[in-house]
Amino acid sequence: MEPNGDRSPRANRWIDSLKSRENIVDNSLELRHGAIAITASSLGQQQYCEQKVEMSLTHEEIQTESKLAGERLHEELLPMEKTTLDALIEDILTKKTYTASFPLAAKYNGYLLAGIPDAVIFRLGKPAFILELKTTRRNPTVLWPSQRVQVTTYGMLLELMGFDCSDLELSVFTLKRTKEPTEDQKKQFLGKAVWVLIGEKTKELVSSLKGALAIHTFHYNPKEARDNIEPSVGYWLKQREPVPTRNPRKCKPCEFNDICPFSLV
Ligand code: SF4
Repeated sequence: MEPNGDRSPRANRWIDSLKSRENIVDNSLELRHGAIAITASSLGQQQYCEQKVEMSLTHEEIQTESKLAGERLHEELLPMEKTTLDALIEDILTKKTYTASFPLAAKYNGYLLAGIPDAVIFRLGKPAFILELKTTRRNPTVLWPSQRVQVTTYGMLLELMGFDCSDLELSVFTLKRTKEPTEDQKKQFLGKAVWVLIGEKTKELVSSLKGALAIHTFHYNPKEARDNIEPSVGYWLKQREPVPTRNPRKCKPCEFNDICPFSLV
């Protein structure tokens, strides 16, 4: 690894942020239900139903077939080799293209924000893409507000940690879960996803999969990321109670609909 003095001040900043992630919990504002951090996925889920976030924090997790199938596909399609922090830093600094998934954490307005994106694709030491994989039984061509908030928050986390996000693109891959991918498709998924993003060939991949995949890519906008999370923070800081959805179609598939006092089904 390069000696510290040979690195740019920006590289030193994100390297320090990565190395000090575990120590930034101290002095953070107290959050609802003793949560250590506000996570990108919770902020996304608040867009769907804030009461559901509350139920997840106060009740045991309820597994559903659909959740398990989604988690299994995630693991199969996005395998990552284990690495060390030093090797991660070295690879970001030296490899032309490098893909990794690792925990992000940063202080923002006195509280801790955190999250683990499915994959960050670095090019020449800068984050070029965040890739988030979603699986669905519904129409994959819709990018839901929950997904947009989650992925923009990952971008904000990278930026707060000191990475240069000036060219960062956010990409949500939505895969239809009705047809199980073959073993070969599973093995090749991540490599192919990186290849089409870098080579700007996402349209070719989407059309070759005939409606089974949609790719939503947009540029990271720091203002959008901050505006997205602002309305949700009051819930975490105990300034207001959770707001339940008013849409019965969201309650129908919700795993808490039997025990939620606000269930509409
Ligand atoms: S049942 Fe409806 S209101 Fe209750 S947590 Fe689920 S989606 Fe929200």
